Amino acid sequence: MHYTQDGRKSTIGPTFQARNSFAMTDDLAGKTVLITGSSTGIGAAVARGFGAQRMRVAVHGNSNMEQAEQVAAEVRAAGGEAIVLQADVRDTAACGELVAAACKAFGRLDILVNNAGGLVQRSPIRDAPDELFDDILALNARSVFSCSRAALPFMESQGGGAIISTTSLAARNGGGGRSVLYAASKGFVSTFTRGLAKEVARFNIRVNAVAPGVIDKPNKSASTPAHQIDASLRMTPMRRQGTLEECVGAYLYLASGTLSSFVTGQVIEVNGGLLMP
Ligand code: NAD
Repeated sequence: MHYTQDGRKSTIGPTFQARNSFAMTDDLAGKTVLITGSSTGIGAAVARGFGAQRMRVAVHGNSNMEQAEQVAAEVRAAGGEAIVLQADVRDTAACGELVAAACKAFGRLDILVNNAGGLVQRSPIRDAPDELFDDILALNARSVFSCSRAALPFMESQGGGAIISTTSLAARNGGGGRSVLYAASKGFVSTFTRGLAKEVARFNIRVNAVAPGVIDKPNKSASTPAHQIDASLRMTPMRRQGTLEECVGAYLYLASGTLSSFVTGQVIEVNGGLLMP
């Protein structure tokens, strides 16, 4: 029973249960999660973080399956279960098969993390061919739609779930130099998050996103020139890039029905203060 501050019995909604205390791990252990793009970078760090919560993790890769196997081994070493799945998320049918395979392997899907994505290629808009538009939108935007759409029937029939997508600071500021299409595709992810959250709240499905700022990763200089990173850091109150591991807490929080049960349609910014929307 829950009581209001002045001691009266509360009529708070039927699914709410007052808790006196909770541990970080108490609702995630044993839960199932599919993380797209988890063979490297932020997705791999999130997979390891979920593994440490003793979760059952579907690690997903595409062109780098050896790294996906390595991440799965790290998930197991951290205390979780892991399977490895392959798909090109630019392909809508492959997204459907990926989600179905995770559900089949685990028997249910509690959490979907739409994380696969990337800049693809920088280009001024005046020189950008249709193929580049299609590629960037298919990778960053349509994959989030396709995987989420595939997960919804499973989550509805099992009584709920959580969808967490990786958007970007670029969704709010238009991106760094010559990355307008990437930034716009992440704008889709943020807006899709809000709209879908409203649509599926009645099925006990929460939909949120994480927006990393400038996060260090192997080969970062291949996609972002050093001068551009330096310019961002000069405007970052914390005066440094974030680490992959520093992104993980936001995903754990949004996955946990204990910690974020009343949080939906939100974008959590992980950016050292670079942008404070
Ligand atoms: P990353 O390159 O290590 O991760 C991207 C992942 O997506 C890889 O594992 C890759 O295999 C996967 N992927 C790419 N194309 C794919 C395809 N066609 N099919 C299936 N999988 C594919 O880089 P990251 O920084 O860890 O990026 C993860 C997410 O974070 C991305 O959505 C990215 O846009 C976003 N993000 C990163 C930063 C940053 O500074 N690192 C900032 C904001 C947003």
